[in-house]
Amino acid sequence: MTLTRRNFNQLALSSAAVGLIPQALAQTTERRVRYAIVGLGRISVNSFMPALRASSNSAITALVSGSPEKARRLAAQYGVPEGSIYSYEQFDRIRENASVDAVYIGLPNGMHAEYTIRAAQAGKHALCEKPMAISVEESKAMIAACKRANKKLMIGYRCQLEPTTLHAKQIIQSGQLGKIQSIESANGFSTPPGEWRLNRKLAGGGPLLDVGIYSLNACRFLLGQEPSRVSAFSSVVDHDGRFDQVEETIAWTMRFPSGALAICSTSYGADLEGFVRVHGSKGTLTLQPAFSYEGIQMSGQIDGEAITYLNKMPFPDEFVREADHFSSCILEDRQPGPSGEEGLRDMEWIDRIYKSAAAQS
Ligand code: NDP
Repeated sequence: MTLTRRNFNQLALSSAAVGLIPQALAQTTERRVRYAIVGLGRISVNSFMPALRASSNSAITALVSGSPEKARRLAAQYGVPEGSIYSYEQFDRIRENASVDAVYIGLPNGMHAEYTIRAAQAGKHALCEKPMAISVEESKAMIAACKRANKKLMIGYRCQLEPTTLHAKQIIQSGQLGKIQSIESANGFSTPPGEWRLNRKLAGGGPLLDVGIYSLNACRFLLGQEPSRVSAFSSVVDHDGRFDQVEETIAWTMRFPSGALAICSTSYGADLEGFVRVHGSKGTLTLQPAFSYEGIQMSGQIDGEAITYLNKMPFPDEFVREADHFSSCILEDRQPGPSGEEGLRDMEWIDRIYKSAAAQS
């Protein structure tokens, strides 16, 4: 078998997972940003930790968790010493841990601000999952805390670093699609009961903050403009107790300064394969799937000529790009993007979308 980067990473991932390759061997370059993983849930364990292992300039050196047994098991798997496992209460002690440069925050949305701010105060850089927080005020406080501590802050909008999305943006921005008239996007999934995602304090809202944010961010990112107006409706279709605290479905429209209109929706009541469709005067471009962990695909036509683009990077390479990028920004003292300010702008629009939906209910 030829050992390409892809199958080396896969071999390293699967072998390391069963303890055949120690992390030191799977990660061979010298300068690495060393991460504490905060919250050992699905995104951390299934996606970001394997990505850090496969990254050329990152390593996992500490874990922060409320589940000691899970933390010990993952520590053994990733070669993290017992002394570098922290509970949430002990989190501030990472200040004294010289083998931690940065934190990755994979906690429920309502905990992002607190742990980002505490990380900055402990002298660590922060890569925080989207949505960056649950309010505009929290988002501003996170940016201020990282600035005060002179630490870098990035928000986990992996699609902004993803090749198909970047290719689509280039087509739109270069005018190849002509004048953009409208953009449509949807994203959602059916959420089971008992999830923190249905708890307002932990989630901050419903599907808009969790998965609708992909559509909102894609519209802003692809068009390269901030909306000038927004209007929204929300609803609950399933009166089964899941949506007592958060909306089930929300749909919104945005008008951009160029005149382009966006029509978006998101739901916790149905499995929607995320898509983005952009209609210009010279053609149409569709991203579908638009937000998946692999296989993001573009199709469409310009002046009747078919256009296609497929990101063939295997999982977890989208996350590896994200880790590589944030780590290289730290190592080379560059400003990482998507920045805290980018996360804040989404939070400001989310706030306006909710206000509009409330006004029309
Ligand atoms: P999970 O529920 O799978 O994990 C969250 C983890 O947070 C838990 O496992 C737990 O870890 C910790 N935690 C601490 N306090 C609580 C609490 N009160 N209730 C529940 N969990 C708690 O969530 P996800 O991994 O799906 O999502 C985490 C974040 O990542 C969210 O902000 C989400 O929006 C974002 N996300 C981003 C994605 C992307 O593609 N960029 C994709 C999916 C999610 P422990 O047991 O170790 O304490």
